[in-house]
Amino acid sequence: MIQTSIFPGKYLQGANAIAELPSQVGRLGESALLVADIVAMKKYIPQVEAAFKRAKLEIIVEEFNGECCDSEIERLKKVAESRDCDVVIGMGGGKTMDTGKSVGHGLRRRVVTVPTIASTDAPTSALAVIYRPEGAFSRYLFFERNPDLVLVDTAIIAKAPVRFLIAGIGDALSTWFEADACRQSYANSFAGGVGTLAAYSLARLCYDTILEFGVAACRSCEGGVVTPALEHVVEANTLLSGVGFESAGLAGAHSIHNGLTVLHGTHSYYHGEKVTIGVEAGLFLGDRHQALIADHGSVEPLMVSWWNRKKQLLQNHFFSKHLHLTTG
Ligand SMILES: [Zn+2]
Repeated sequence: MIQTSIFPGKYLQGANAIAELPSQVGRLGESALLVADIVAMKKYIPQVEAAFKRAKLEIIVEEFNGECCDSEIERLKKVAESRDCDVVIGMGGGKTMDTGKSVGHGLRRRVVTVPTIASTDAPTSALAVIYRPEGAFSRYLFFERNPDLVLVDTAIIAKAPVRFLIAGIGDALSTWFEADACRQSYANSFAGGVGTLAAYSLARLCYDTILEFGVAACRSCEGGVVTPALEHVVEANTLLSGVGFESAGLAGAHSIHNGLTVLHGTHSYYHGEKVTIGVEAGLFLGDRHQALIADHGSVEPLMVSWWNRKKQLLQNHFFSKHLHLTTG
């Protein structure tokens, strides 16, 4: 039985960490393509460009078109090749970073992710979720290695709408349940083997961190301030969940998420919001102990907006629509 774990090359997190980006990228190469989503373009790119200029490093900025699909990846690959970029940076949400990773790894360049929200564990992983141009899940794309650098500025994340953090909590809540399901069945993870003790332990730490600090972190984000609780939950959503899912394994919650993406009505909901439907379903499908279900449920009423969105999600008749689709 082979046990395997994989990790990003370097993880850097803290308030105002974005100031470190030029010096950190400078370790990896002399020129960079930065793929930024529309929010990052407006709020942060001017200061990033100025910082790279001061550091005498070349940076080419391209706006992300909004979907991590093959045509967008090919468009950006051409830019990176024509400008001979050593490094590809994805800055924004999960799809922007997955696109940056797909471009950088596809061209065998160094890869950097800079999440501006803590809504998924995409920043650390050696895979990307590829969608069809209209938004339905297409496939996982696997890379030879994880990003060379994951840089997380918690001051930026604290200023983002709390819905993103809550979605990330929903995604991260699945990590330990899915890791534990894989551990019990000796299932292989994305890393290519059975999980290591490190991976299962980090998945459990992810869960415990969210239960302890999740609510306080949401309050911090609502106030736009960085607190130790927010730092802990950002680390749980990003690093612990990232290493946990990738090296311990995914199970029912993400499968249910992938199925939900086929339904057009789900496209306005974030990845973690759909995953949390899968977590709920998995607790019952897995015949989990009632005390555990109650423990998990105890966080939910406190996360008011997450809970409300979930109810809204259910009210949109996901399941009745899905049943309609599958029964023809
Ligand atoms: Zn996920």
